Parts: sequence; C-alpha cells; structure tokens
Amino acid sequence: MDKEDHLAPPTMVIDFDGTLAVHDVGDELCETFAEPGWRDVGAAWRRGELSLADAQRRMWASVTADRTRMEERARELGALREGADALFDAARRGALTLVLASGGFGLYIEAILGDRLSLFAATYYNRLEPGPAGPTLDFPHRDLARGPYAICKAAVCERHGAHLFAGDGSSDRSVAGVVPTVFAVEGSLLALHCNERGVPCVPFTTFDEVLAHLRVPAP
Ligand SMILES: [Mg+2]
Repeated sequence: MDKEDHLAPPTMVIDFDGTLAVHDVGDELCETFAEPGWRDVGAAWRRGELSLADAQRRMWASVTADRTRMEERARELGALREGADALFDAARRGALTLVLASGGFGLYIEAILGDRLSLFAATYYNRLEPGPAGPTLDFPHRDLARGPYAICKAAVCERHGAHLFAGDGSSDRSVAGVVPTVFAVEGSLLALHCNERGVPCVPFTTFDEVLAHLRVPAP
C-alpha cells in the first residue's frame, strides 16, 4: 500500500430506500399513488420471478400523479436515518467517501436530499418521468446492470474499490460475501440474507453506530 492509499479515506457505498432514508420511499409513493396490487409485483420480484426493472415498470404503471405531487409526498416521507447528519459531516470533513447506489429513482432522491447530494463522490440511481398515462422509467446505468439488478450494488462497490457497504433490502443481496464489510439495517431482509448464508454482516440502526465501528471520530 503506498502512502497515498494509506491516507485516502475509506469509501462506503450506501443504499437509499430503507437505509439512508428510514422508509422505502419508492414503495410508499406506490402505496400513495398506485392502484392496489402493486405489492404483489414487489413480492414476485423478491421471489425471483421478475427483474427489478420489470417489477418497477409494473408497480409504477398506474401512477398518474404529477411531479409536484410526488415530490411533495416524497419530502413528507423522506425522514433520514438517525446519524445521517454525522455521516454527511464525516464526508464533508474528508473522513469518509460516500457513494450513493439506489435501485430507486431520482425524482424522490433529489427531492429529499437536495444540496446534500453534492456530499457524495458519485451517485447512481434510475430515472422516473411522471406522465398522465403513467410514468416513463429509464435505467441508464447499463454498465452496472447484473442479473436481476439494473444497478448491481456489488458492481458499484467494485467500480469504486469500496470495502464498505450499507444497505437493507433484497436489491442489496449481491454484496453479501463479496464486499468485506456489510452494514445491514437491524432486522432487514439483507441482514436475514447474510445470516441465512453464514455471511458476516454488521447490524446497525443508526449511522452513529456505523461511524463508531469505522472509528471515524465525531467532529
Ligand atoms: Mg433499500
């Protein structure tokens, strides 16, 4: 390891829905605006019957709300996990490099994070453009698509040389056993997935716990 590598802050790739944001904002927007039955599509994806992108196209198909209504609802739903400010502060101080990797959509991620997106060294998510006949979904990161994932979290970690990942869900499973340190939200599907396979993960509830584990000092 050369001197520069030694001094470089560690890079952590972080998921959005259910991880940085307390709620799965995408699911909650479907709960608000989609016709009933969208949850059945989500269940089919988790059983491996659909790719995530195909599941999302079906889940969102009946949503005809316009951008303003969706962004307003996103901000209502968009509480960040406890310790997020400390995490952002660590990024601001150069103690940690953050990369955002979400299978969700810019429409609500940008509405919720706003200027704080500039604290990330890189961001990866998909695009949703509302329309009166249903939204248009775009999955632009084709070079990061693997298997059922339009944005494979393990591929993002590989691209950034990240040895740290924080996540919660079914769409984060690719990191298990691949990324050296996986922080999994306590009680989440990702934690369950790791436990079932005997893959170590660090359960967490707040980002203060994550920063303490990484020995990133408080300001
Ligand atoms: Mg998630």
